[in-house]
Amino acid sequence: MEKLEMLYEGKAKKVFKTSESGTYWIEYKDDATAFNGEKKGQIAGKGTLNNEISAIFLSLLKEKGLDNHFIKKISSTEQIVQQVEIIPIEVVVRNITAGSLAKRLGWEEGKELPQTIMEFYYKNDELGDPLINQDHIAILGLATEEELADIRNQALKINEILNEYLLNKDLILVDFKLEFGKSPAGDIILADEISPDTCRFWDAHTKKKLDKDRFRRDLGNVEEAYQEILRRIGGSVNV
Ligand code: UDP
Repeated sequence: MEKLEMLYEGKAKKVFKTSESGTYWIEYKDDATAFNGEKKGQIAGKGTLNNEISAIFLSLLKEKGLDNHFIKKISSTEQIVQQVEIIPIEVVVRNITAGSLAKRLGWEEGKELPQTIMEFYYKNDELGDPLINQDHIAILGLATEEELADIRNQALKINEILNEYLLNKDLILVDFKLEFGKSPAGDIILADEISPDTCRFWDAHTKKKLDKDRFRRDLGNVEEAYQEILRRIGGSVNV
């Protein structure tokens, strides 16, 4: 398989066409951004770490019957995925208060939520990814009612699988963001990445933050936190 022209460069990844139809070639970058691109930087080794971490999580989900775009890892920073058309909705699932939810509700960070919360954000850089609801999704034509129900079910199942898996590694899954895509056959499948860039992970005992909040809030030891996540889920830390 050959890498062909670049289709898209995002904040954390590049997407290329390949010589094999139906597939994309993803390259994970060390670049990090926060607050809608206002804060920019680099996290040494992040491309390698997130490529491996995401491959492990997406493979785990496949094993558990949750189909997704991951096909195979081909180098330390690259993986081949199934071609899908990304639905411009960021699906956020929350178990514990943190980040924008803590701010919105005026609740302190770290409170266990009485029920899982799901939020949808319109993936639109110009608008700053605003929070939207089912009615907004309908009038924007982003997904049908059935498609949104499918997305919701998959997101809840992913939360269950990851929660159980991570608790066994002494990690708390505070919240995370998912993106879904539509396959040429019209199926909605999980796409994008699952990594410390897109999830909040806390140590179950010390509550130490082991994710991108260390970059967002200048807490230091960002790379070490990503390495710690990879180590706990059984990946290699030789980056
Ligand atoms: N998130 C993400 N990309 C975004 C916004 C949020 O991956 O553009 C993730 C973030 O890492 C966290 C969850 O979604 O795990 C909820 O983020 P929140 O709404 O609290 O926003 P933040 O505090 O990151 O601005």
